[in-house]
Amino acid sequence: MHELSLAGEIKDLIDEKRGGSTVQSTTIEVGALSGVVPDAFNFCIDTVLKEAFGDKININVIYQQGEALCTCGKIYPVDDLFKPCPFCNGYNRKIKKGAEIFLKTIEIDN
Ligand SMILES: [Zn+2]
Repeated sequence: MHELSLAGEIKDLIDEKRGGSTVQSTTIEVGALSGVVPDAFNFCIDTVLKEAFGDKININVIYQQGEALCTCGKIYPVDDLFKPCPFCNGYNRKIKKGAEIFLKTIEIDN
């Protein structure tokens, strides 16, 4: 399962950054074009992070809409790669935003 391995990578990243401190909360930003299934990802991240850092961790997952730049010069929001440009109906565009998953913030107990 793709979502489970992503959750594991985020856990490792948090673990590396926290330096042994307790993690209070974390915010993860998920692009709409990153290929994750939101329900599956929410479930996996919740399970993996709580198992690693305890039940009290506050997990915020923000889903961000994608953005594409078309060869026709328009920038448009995109949440589905199978939809063409709404201006010229072309598929020749560059994804500007929304293809990635970021660990946005972590808050630790000092
Ligand atoms: Zn276009």
